[in-house]
Amino acid sequence: MANSNQLSKIPVIASPLPTFIEELYTKYQGLKEGTVANYIPELAKVNPNLFSICIVTVNGEVYEVGNYQQLFTIQSISKVFAHGLALEDHGRDYFLTRVGVEPTGEAFNAIILDEQSKRPYNPMVNAGAIATTNLIKGVDATERLNRMLDMFRRYIGHDVFVDISVFTSERTTGHRNRAMAHLMLNFGMIDPNIEESLDLYFQQCAVMVNCHDLAVMAATLANKGINPITQEQAVDSRYVRDMLSVMYTCGMYNFAGEWAYKVGIPAKSGVSGGILAVVPNQMGIAVFSPLLDARGNSIRGVKVCEELSQRLGLHLFECDNPLGKGEWQRE
Ligand code: GLU
Repeated sequence: MANSNQLSKIPVIASPLPTFIEELYTKYQGLKEGTVANYIPELAKVNPNLFSICIVTVNGEVYEVGNYQQLFTIQSISKVFAHGLALEDHGRDYFLTRVGVEPTGEAFNAIILDEQSKRPYNPMVNAGAIATTNLIKGVDATERLNRMLDMFRRYIGHDVFVDISVFTSERTTGHRNRAMAHLMLNFGMIDPNIEESLDLYFQQCAVMVNCHDLAVMAATLANKGINPITQEQAVDSRYVRDMLSVMYTCGMYNFAGEWAYKVGIPAKSGVSGGILAVVPNQMGIAVFSPLLDARGNSIRGVKVCEELSQRLGLHLFECDNPLGKGEWQRE
């Protein structure tokens, strides 16, 4: 089924979603602009033609098209979920002493800290993500990794694994991330076990998911932190608002402002080509297509989300929605 271009055979009554996503899939399948990420050598090997769209509603309905079972590494999308775990481990107040919530407008791998506080700007840029992962508790590296993997399991509904080749590739070549960790250590913003934290950060980025998994994770955030398929509470509901706020303002690299303006829903993308978007109390959306624009966002992914948002009236601040808010839902 990995290369199926068929809609999954889930019985659907009067929902326009299958038709919408099939139309969008057909419309953008031929769009071959962009390049795959190559700064992590293993990522450059991906097939650029892969493409899938998946929507999971908070009621657990699933609509998907394309290569939605194709595995890829989650990369930066993991930052959203590490943020949630660090908040559970330390609470909001302490977390904010170590990592800010301010968008940078800079590239995700910019080597910058807030002048005054010396905090990294937010948990979605690399410096902030490394500082966030540094906060994840555990007596040793194994326990920290197992807690991280178990956290992903709760959101996805099955065990997850780290792609060792991608992990090793990034660990060997991630000098820039290592430099950021040293800079933060210099200012006392992270604990001294930086090699262990960098390993955990590279491992979290190399967790393998497919487009279906990403949509379930997004739907879990849309559903107050409860996985709509397994009904397991994946994250303390108190922190969902923190996670979504930071996604909304910082999740789409230095396109975050334009995304918030045009698409209007919290989202996070990663350099392997995934985009995960959350429509609170309604649905999770995921798109996978590895061809990226200059900022690191999936080109087809951005187009699909822009159009879905427009056609389904998903923008959070939409007042004059021709479809009527939520009219896409089944009776
Ligand atoms: N592991 C990647 C890095 O740290 C994640 C990049 C991304 O997806 O934005 O550079």
